[in-house]
Amino acid sequence: MTTAMAADPQPGPGGSVIPRIENAAAMRIFGTSAWPAVKEIFENILGGAPLVTTSGREDLMNPDLRPLIDRYYRGTGMDAHDRIKLFKLVWDAIGTEFGGRHELYERNYAGNSEQIRVDAVNFARRTGVLDRCVDLVDQCLADYDLDGWINPSWR
Ligand SMILES: Cc1cc2nc3c(=O)[nH]c(=O)nc-3n(C[C@H](O)[C@H](O)[C@H](O)COP(=O)(O)OP(=O)(O)OC[C@H]3O[C@@H](n4cnc5c(N)ncnc54)[C@H](O)[C@@H]3O)c2cc1C
Repeated sequence: MTTAMAADPQPGPGGSVIPRIENAAAMRIFGTSAWPAVKEIFENILGGAPLVTTSGREDLMNPDLRPLIDRYYRGTGMDAHDRIKLFKLVWDAIGTEFGGRHELYERNYAGNSEQIRVDAVNFARRTGVLDRCVDLVDQCLADYDLDGWINPSWR
């Protein structure tokens, strides 16, 4: 969708080009469900692991604790240091104050969840896309009746 917005723009003022409104509206709507879906995958697959890490670098630097950390926090094919570092990154993206703010942002940045859907319908109505969608449904319905295919292409 990002590529479509950049590579397939519509004319803007003064000879400029701007992202095609249908693509931008679809992207806005998709964003509200894409990130929560990604977040859910992390939460379901990793369970509590991103939370069950050392509290900070001081623990890893502590010579008394480090042997225990290396032993109990190691992963499969990954030592404790790299595994903890990775889980800290995951937690930052999904669970911290920053992660929580980011999810709220993805859901609401362009307006409340109903408004961005109403906007998309209004854009589609204005540009004729909604009429084309209705025409497509009518065309599909006109292809068959109770006796089967009317459109000879499908016989
Ligand atoms: C992290 C984050 C970053 C943001 N960044 C930006 C930014 O950079 N630029 C920017 O312009 N905005 C930004 N926003 C603001 C965003 O545009 C608003 O949060 C969004 O428009 C929703 O408005 P609201 O939070 O006031 O909720 P409301 O509009 O109060 O919506 C809350 C609920 O009430 C419902 N509701 C609202 N009005 C009515 C009504 N009249 N009748 C019945 N129900 C109604 C809504 O549908 C929704 O379910 C950001 C928001 C967040 C959370």
